[in-house]
Amino acid sequence: MAILLDETHDAKRTSWVAGANQHADFPVQNLPLGVFSVRGDTPRGGIAIGDAVFDIKAACEAKLFSGDADKAARAAGASTLNDLMVLGAGPRAALRKQVSALLAEGTPESARAMPLAAKLLHKAADCTLHLPAKIGAFTDFFAGITHAENGGKRRGANPPLTPNYKYVPVAYHSRASTVRPSGVSVRRPNGQRVVDGEQLPTFGPCLKMDFELELGIWIGHGNTWGDPIPMSRASEHIYGYCMLNDWSARDIQRWESQPLGPFLSKNFGTTISPWIITPEALAPFQIAQPPRPDGDPKPLPYLWDDNDQREGQFDLDIEVLIHTEGMRAKGAPPQRISASNTRHLYWTVAQMVAHHTCGGCSLEAGDIFGSGTISGPTPENYGSIAELSFDGTRDITLASGEIRRWVQDGDDIYLRAHGRRDGYSIGFGDCCARMMAGGR
Ligand code: CA
Repeated sequence: MAILLDETHDAKRTSWVAGANQHADFPVQNLPLGVFSVRGDTPRGGIAIGDAVFDIKAACEAKLFSGDADKAARAAGASTLNDLMVLGAGPRAALRKQVSALLAEGTPESARAMPLAAKLLHKAADCTLHLPAKIGAFTDFFAGITHAENGGKRRGANPPLTPNYKYVPVAYHSRASTVRPSGVSVRRPNGQRVVDGEQLPTFGPCLKMDFELELGIWIGHGNTWGDPIPMSRASEHIYGYCMLNDWSARDIQRWESQPLGPFLSKNFGTTISPWIITPEALAPFQIAQPPRPDGDPKPLPYLWDDNDQREGQFDLDIEVLIHTEGMRAKGAPPQRISASNTRHLYWTVAQMVAHHTCGGCSLEAGDIFGSGTISGPTPENYGSIAELSFDGTRDITLASGEIRRWVQDGDDIYLRAHGRRDGYSIGFGDCCARMMAGGR
């Protein structure tokens, strides 16, 4: 279902909140949902605006909402947003509309909100951001076709793609319990791996640590067990988006994934950006799914929908930055090592939802998907260090003079995403975590 653009998307709308206008991530056109706390108080729902967090519960107590927006705001007062997500698109869009009016310059609603600014707004620097929902299940897709091809080439497969790839949105069930929000360090795992030059496995720390540049997808209200979600209804179940770093222990993965796929190489930690970017905020950045190359099969009918083909993909610039201990010591900023775009996904999010449920699997509010690593066609667009270093065989020389073939202890890895249009941009906020030494 197309989301109609309205006054909340108007590039000319400005906010009275200091720092919001021209903010690269959180101008008034974005308004992402999250869960925050201030100096250890009770976590609750909030909305990012500039360098501040809008307190939904405080606004609710001040009776600033009505109708569906009020219903949404009450649900968002909880310490996770699962109850809000169950409500679906209508209340979410209503809340967005009323918050936009409260925070915009020159609206009648803003005249009610501005005198309450001290209660309604918290400095983002004073806030801790939490996971926005209790995650019941985490599924990781493999929809970045260049990443899939590069992986096949590394394994020596010819052709590099398996015969199912262009028919099936390939995925595996990953681990929900180890997903953490940006800012939480991840510990290098121990595991079985065959060290280069050896024949037999040993147990020890991962020696080939990697990141993966992925779009995360939040599921809103679910489906009944046994009832597939058709393509035409898929968008109703998608609650929003984040960035997702699917940390990957490549040496452990290579040894264990025969024949069933990733297990311990992927389940030790996943980092997500904590703000839920809504489908409404991303509506201006929707694009047609790029046509498949000549000779590729048309998706089977249960994965085909004309509307989805017309508007089911996104034009979002996505990137990976590294900030090593050495760079931090010198006061140097993070360095970009990859730049890609979500348009390189071979499958749309609606196709992922329809495929996930076609056999009757039930999704639930708070489930999360990873898109798969979104590499672009050229090496500058590769979304994992295994691709950038050609499986650890080529040096990546950083501006600091440091060299990387894999992620080292002390490296901060940032994922970022931006939609750009009409002189404004909306961003996803940081998806950053530091790789820490193992040691257990
Ligand atoms: Ca992945």
